[in-house]
Amino acid sequence: MFCNQCEQTPSGECKDIGVCGKAETIASLQDTIIFALKGIAAYRSHASQMGYTDSFVDATTHEALYMTLTNSNFTVEEHIEMAVKVGQSAVRIIEVLDEAHTSLLGIQQPIRVTRNDHETVLGLAPKVIDAVKEGKIKRFFVISGCDAPGNGEGYYRELAASLPPETIILTTSSGKFRYNDVEYGVVPGTNIPRYIELGQCNNSGSTVKIAKALAEAFECEINEMPISIVLSWFEQKAVAILLGLFSLGIQDIRIGPKPPEFISGGVLAVLQEAFNLKLIGTPQEGTDPMLELVKK
Ligand code: SF4
Repeated sequence: MFCNQCEQTPSGECKDIGVCGKAETIASLQDTIIFALKGIAAYRSHASQMGYTDSFVDATTHEALYMTLTNSNFTVEEHIEMAVKVGQSAVRIIEVLDEAHTSLLGIQQPIRVTRNDHETVLGLAPKVIDAVKEGKIKRFFVISGCDAPGNGEGYYRELAASLPPETIILTTSSGKFRYNDVEYGVVPGTNIPRYIELGQCNNSGSTVKIAKALAEAFECEINEMPISIVLSWFEQKAVAILLGLFSLGIQDIRIGPKPPEFISGGVLAVLQEAFNLKLIGTPQEGTDPMLELVKK
């Protein structure tokens, strides 16, 4: 535990437990919420530059800052509830930003080696649904997130490159530069591209919209769809997106290249219990269980 948030801080920091009584789990949840709020603030600033605001996002930011920075509440359950609400706020601000971009700049049209918008990709939906029903597409992999030095010792590239042809990769954010030079081709027997790039981290909502649309088409929940989500994180916006995915009830997400230091062992255990959050391992350890899912 580390906290140097207030005047009561002993020389350097509060370590094992706060002078105020704050325990490690609360400190970790507060850090998680505050890092996510920083990421949301980046998106919110960008949206306001284009004339867009959102009262839910602003109210949640005020509420979460009051709870964390003033140390007004040391209840674990209420911090988890707040983390989920901050996740809802992340989903909302990404939607607002998407609305701002598409209304001011128009919907991106696909061109070679450039990104797609979810509206464009959803145009492929009937073909994709048919291909899933015919067994030509067996699984979708959302491989997304920040680039980071080392980045899992090649984990993300090895994962993307090793996926069999009956899979589709959806990607956003800068992590893609580790594997976007691979020639993925099309799903055999179709003209559906296997590699679909949706933009930067603020376009993460597009992958969720595509997953939701596919789930609706198959009349099931997202968690029942053949989708694996593997994220790389580097900074606050990725924390906001991860909380956003939790707020949507999405489970079985893998993150790497390592767990955030501000997430304590206790909080990680809670996230593993509630959302089946997993850590990536070595490329081989981490890839094999997902490849096994393709065979099912
Ligand atoms: S808020 Fe509590 S844990 Fe943090 S520095 Fe102050 S006394 Fe220590």
